[in-house]
Amino acid sequence: MHESIECAESGLYTRPAYRLTREDSDHPVLLVCEHASRFIPVALNDLGLDETASQEHIAWDIGALLLAERLSETLGATLLSANYSRLLIDLNRPLHVPDSIPAQSEIYQVPGNHDLDDATREYRQQCLFHPFHDRLRTLIDQRLAANRPVRVVGIHSFTPVFYGQPRALEAGVLFGEAKAYAQRIVDGLCRHSLRAAGNQPYKINPLTDMTVPVHGDGRGLDSVLIEVRNDQLRSPEAVRTWSAYLAPLL
Ligand SMILES: [Zn+2]
Repeated sequence: MHESIECAESGLYTRPAYRLTREDSDHPVLLVCEHASRFIPVALNDLGLDETASQEHIAWDIGALLLAERLSETLGATLLSANYSRLLIDLNRPLHVPDSIPAQSEIYQVPGNHDLDDATREYRQQCLFHPFHDRLRTLIDQRLAANRPVRVVGIHSFTPVFYGQPRALEAGVLFGEAKAYAQRIVDGLCRHSLRAAGNQPYKINPLTDMTVPVHGDGRGLDSVLIEVRNDQLRSPEAVRTWSAYLAPLL
């Protein structure tokens, strides 16, 4: 399909858009990790970011994939994770919002996204965005068709310092419609004396979020987006600990 678009990035996206782990799992939870990767094709020169910025949280959610993989293993649940950086196109944003392809992220300019032509935007959508969301939709379709329960759980991490301000929160459970499910997870984390809260440090906005409102709430499914502060996910032991907190609650 996308071979038909001619643009400056034609032929660059040679690896698959996503990785699917434990596709045939019977577990009701579908784990989704949209910001799993910081990979940007070499020819794009890190979109003009310096090395510090391209390794930073703006390019990916540090530790989120490790946590999602560990949860997938512990629960035996299916995991869909992205293989490209969110800076190319953000898989958790609808296509029409300005930061779908961000020209700026937090304090960093993203020069390679400035003045992108329509063909290049469409090419990224076709190579990176649509395959991911089509696959997620199909996974849900198949399970619902088999009368199986489905819960859609996004795994993310957030930076301990945002616009210069330190954050005390250790984990957030973001939700739209699935208030009871989210509260159960928050309560479970608080029982471990963790600083956890609902709809912090961000809120789900149906106009600017993608996975929870579209694949979860939009289909009447329990769905949350879990945010863990990324300084909590810096070692294999720490990731195992967070997986052990979360797994029984999902
Ligand atoms: Zn994220």
